[in-house]
Amino acid sequence: MKNTIYPTFTVHLQSIKENYHKICKKIYPTQVAAVVKDNAYGLGAKKVVQTLYPECKSFFVAYAKEGALIRPLAPEANIFILQGIGKNDLNIVKKNNLIPVLSSLEDISFWENTGIKNIKPALQMDTGLNRLGLRLSDLNKISLEQKKYSLFISHLGCSDIPNHPMNLIQLKTFEKGKCFFDKLPASLSASGGALLGKPYLYDMARVGALLYGISQPVGKLREFKNPLRIQAVVLQTAEIQAGESISYGATYTASRPRKIAIVSIGYADGLFVSLSNKGGFYFHNNPLPFLGRVCMDSTICDISDSPSLQQGDLVDVLNEVYTADDMAIDAQTNGYEILSRFGKGVRFIRSYKNT
Ligand SMILES: *Cc1c(COP(=O)(O)O)cnc(C)c1O
Repeated sequence: MKNTIYPTFTVHLQSIKENYHKICKKIYPTQVAAVVKDNAYGLGAKKVVQTLYPECKSFFVAYAKEGALIRPLAPEANIFILQGIGKNDLNIVKKNNLIPVLSSLEDISFWENTGIKNIKPALQMDTGLNRLGLRLSDLNKISLEQKKYSLFISHLGCSDIPNHPMNLIQLKTFEKGKCFFDKLPASLSASGGALLGKPYLYDMARVGALLYGISQPVGKLREFKNPLRIQAVVLQTAEIQAGESISYGATYTASRPRKIAIVSIGYADGLFVSLSNKGGFYFHNNPLPFLGRVCMDSTICDISDSPSLQQGDLVDVLNEVYTADDMAIDAQTNGYEILSRFGKGVRFIRSYKNT
């Protein structure tokens, strides 16, 4: 019997560092801030911050609590809180010197009323995503003292599609907003925008996806490394006859004899049920197609073409060849959601490699 039957989650921190260097070089002299919200897209915010600081001086998270978690690892960094803050966050913000991003007139007056003077918040403008942000009409309405703020940002909605007309529309609106804050450093782009060229760069890009090897431009050779390998253990192999079905709902029926493996990973660990009968594992880069519905703890695959595979062997769930972006296509989602889901898995044996 194997020593362990748990699925494994291995992060190559050196790949994240290389991705950081690559993007820095590409968009120099624009500063690259690392986005580490949602536990660095599931890969481990503390480890990622530890890897990139002090070279990287600015980090973005969604919530104040996430900022507090990484503060000890980056004592001098600027830590921005994208989602804004509630009253209950004020103590955390003060204690950890976190920088809230204010996105509405209400946010601004709330912040003014706290009387906190030693933290200069950032301002977010909405330029067409229609998510969080001050609208251009808000900026026209009010006069804001620039020196009270540290950064002026907005966020693109279609930057993963380089020739999408929204990109230019948002850029133009951002330019208008920027007129009100000509003395503040500006940041419009995340990963997608950082690859759109000079006009989109400004002073800082807020990069998450590319650090973690996802959301890479399609059709090109992958430029950024995939830092995550997920593996799972074969618990059992079996042979089935033509006419036999597999897993809940009997959604797969064999048309000829098959050799199958029952693998110890399922939707509880982050594997999407929408991959049922679609995705697959890999064994030495040979595909092992999923058969039938993905279960909570197990997934069954076809090993007829990899007959040497046996109980106790490890198969790849994600690797260099089949990345989160690839799985996203099969699962009809995006690489972000794939990483975020696996990142929540508490049953993985997690390990970090520095080489
Ligand atoms: C999540 C987020 C980012 C990072 O986006 P990536 O595509 O992962 O680089 C940047 N800015 C804002 C406002 C975000 O919400």
